[in-house]
Amino acid sequence: MTAAATAFRGVYGTGCEGVWAAPGRVNLIGEYTDVNDGFVMPLALPLRTGVAARARADGRLRLHSADIPGGVVTVAPDELRPGAVRGWAAYPAGVLWALREAGHAVAGADLHVESDVPVGAGLSSSAALEVATALALDGLYGLGLARPELARLARRAENAFAGVPCGIMDQTAAACCEAGHVLFLDTRDLTRRHLPFDLAAHGLRLLVVDTRVKHDLGEGEYARRRAGCEAAARALGVRALRDVPYGELDVAVRELRAVPGAGALVRHVVSENERVRAVAALLDAGDPRATGPLLTAGHASLRDDFAVSCPELDLVVATATGAGALGARMTGGGFGGSAVVLTDETTADTVERAVTAAFAAAGYATPRVFAVEAGEGARRVG
Ligand code: ADP
Ligand code: MG
Repeated sequence: MTAAATAFRGVYGTGCEGVWAAPGRVNLIGEYTDVNDGFVMPLALPLRTGVAARARADGRLRLHSADIPGGVVTVAPDELRPGAVRGWAAYPAGVLWALREAGHAVAGADLHVESDVPVGAGLSSSAALEVATALALDGLYGLGLARPELARLARRAENAFAGVPCGIMDQTAAACCEAGHVLFLDTRDLTRRHLPFDLAAHGLRLLVVDTRVKHDLGEGEYARRRAGCEAAARALGVRALRDVPYGELDVAVRELRAVPGAGALVRHVVSENERVRAVAALLDAGDPRATGPLLTAGHASLRDDFAVSCPELDLVVATATGAGALGARMTGGGFGGSAVVLTDETTADTVERAVTAAFAAAGYATPRVFAVEAGEGARRVG
């Protein structure tokens, strides 16, 4: 990340005051549960976004990214309102806006961004950018904000300023994860537990398979699923689907039989929360290997009940489990993006080759497959 400091000087002609970094994430299990007040279990990737930064007294924001062509973007103080900033600049500008809205005394900044988080692969490069920016501004202006508060403001930036309706998982993962652990997060009360996830110690490997596809219907379908879940909760008379106990799932589904599609949505959300709890119990017991079937069951639920998978993600899961993986599932919003595969170290290469060959045989783009360990959350790196 000293490269980011050097690049900052090249872009702005002066040195930066520091470099702050935040990781991308994969969600081990707990999909579409965060928009239902439920449980999620992300881990930070060893890939991260760095922000080299310098304060500006004039309230102006200048932004540059090594990953986006087009040079420096300037945001004037009167442009710092929702809807006024377009493109990638809306994410860091939204963070500055959210900090000011929350009453924090932050003027402007010059920022240079460098990242090795794949963009748009469902690995949350957006939250990595927001949280790295939030931590940089926190550092430049000596705010001393706690991590969960930085995550909350980063999410506000994405929702209200960039106009993307995401839950709280991604920003919390980027801000709060710890190396060697997954983050077991209750998205209602924001209780966090760091559960041990030392793959090497158990002879395991976690592969991320980036399918490199992103089907267009994703955004509309995401909104439709959220609305469907909210309508189902209303019909059941609960605040959120989180409040439907697993033991009452069948009763709830029967109660919803007059509402088209609602039963399947509820079945996914309620069973997924139960799977997250079950994975947590296994990790607490020191048995990560046993989580495999729960991951695969989670994929089936997303594919068959929640209907957010796609042929490429289904092919990853079918091929990986067929080649001896312990478990596999799509991760993130679906309709493309990435899958996670849990394998024994000794079968990882076989699984990777099988997935790559299956994609070639199907005529799909070559997927990007990489092994990850649970990395650390955001921090100052320079
Ligand atoms: P994901 O978060 O899954 O990677 P999103 O569509 O939510 O995908 O966010 C990707 C967007 O975030 C990019 O289109 C860009 O606007 C912004 N972004 C992410 N990383 C960077 C980066 N390194 N430099 C500039 N913009 C970035
Ligand atoms: Mg994102």
